[in-house]
Amino acid sequence: MLRFRIWTATLVLLGLAIFCQRLMSPTVGSAALQADGDLQWYRGNMHTHSYWSDGDNYLENIALWYREHDYDFLVFTDHNTLAASERWIDVDKVKSGRKAYDKLKANFPDAIAEREKDGKTEVRLKTFAEVSELVGLPGKYLLVQGEEVTDKFGRSPIHMNVSNIKEAIPPLGGGSVTEVMQNNVNAAIAQRERTGQPMIIHLNHPNFGWGVTAEDLLPVIGENFFEVYNGHPGVNNSGDKEHASTERFWDILLTRRLAELKLPVLYGLATDDGHSYHNIPSRASEPGRGWVMVLAENLTPETLIESMEAGRFYASSGVTLSRVESGPRGLSIQIAEEPGVTYRTEFIGTRRGFDATSTPVLDKEGKEQHVTRQYSADIGTVLAIQEGTEARYNFQGDEIYVRARVTSSKLHPNPSELGEFERAWVQPLPGPIAQPQ
Ligand SMILES: [Zn+2]
Ligand SMILES: [Zn+2]
Repeated sequence: MLRFRIWTATLVLLGLAIFCQRLMSPTVGSAALQADGDLQWYRGNMHTHSYWSDGDNYLENIALWYREHDYDFLVFTDHNTLAASERWIDVDKVKSGRKAYDKLKANFPDAIAEREKDGKTEVRLKTFAEVSELVGLPGKYLLVQGEEVTDKFGRSPIHMNVSNIKEAIPPLGGGSVTEVMQNNVNAAIAQRERTGQPMIIHLNHPNFGWGVTAEDLLPVIGENFFEVYNGHPGVNNSGDKEHASTERFWDILLTRRLAELKLPVLYGLATDDGHSYHNIPSRASEPGRGWVMVLAENLTPETLIESMEAGRFYASSGVTLSRVESGPRGLSIQIAEEPGVTYRTEFIGTRRGFDATSTPVLDKEGKEQHVTRQYSADIGTVLAIQEGTEARYNFQGDEIYVRARVTSSKLHPNPSELGEFERAWVQPLPGPIAQPQ
């Protein structure tokens, strides 16, 4: 009996010690994202068009542009096609034909397959495998095969990128915007399971053609990434009077996914969606506007995807972070300072007990429109604002999630929308109640 009591007392003390350590040590249960040894930040763009669909350049020229502009990886995502077949183009019939051809001659003089046919100059488009061999650098610069699965429902465009895809996925359609997304997500998941190759599917530019509302995406299962920032000037990142911005879209989804549906968080990406490569900067869809920074042990599609699925990345349109720490106590970040630039960090989230009511947006005749509903200001509220290169948010205990957006005092040199400042988007962290213990 005495021995039993001693054992019980020891266990209670041990439990108390562990409990106290949890309270005192900020690192218990925390994840610190920071370059360290083999862990490095890798910069990548996950949305790219070329002559394989409606871009105005050759894959190898595009790959070289990104390599020379300090990127570590690039995903090719042409519309509904993989660069995997034999295809010839007439140099004078494609967009920016002679400009692109001259660059190809200058960049890769010994690697061009061309022919004269009926007095026309034709060039064979290189396949993904050939471009990867020609421009990729093992361990230093990675090219990844992708596809922009380009679908629609009625007049709503629904575009989703699959990164590290193995076989082309034809757009599958469906009976609603939600169903179209779910069908294409299911196809990507099925291909991943069948081939064993990891791949990520993400929703592109939801506000392009006002195609996808927050309520459309809400019930979709297996879709955990979307573009909070797309560099194409025609995609309405900021929304308008009637339409939610992509950030508002994100907050509505985060709140309802976590509070109502118990779905995982939705991660935000920044991408270029480049189509135009010959007049930079201009007001077309050019490269270099938005990217992701992924913390990984090495530069392979497998490790990058593993990191992204664990949330070990952030999105940027110019601001660089040197450290992101998240844990049961909250979220803290450290910004890599640029001389003469100042930074403002907003911590954004929703608290339990929020006003969950919403109203539809009506047209002039009072008919409900296919537009994200309007919610109370409780959703995606600014919880705190801090200035400087370090910012920290401590949970108060009732947050459903918190995320951070850093805005610099520096104007984006070639923005998607005029007047944009450089930004970084830190991935959402579920609140203390929702976090696994
Ligand atoms: Zn698109
Ligand atoms: Zn695109």
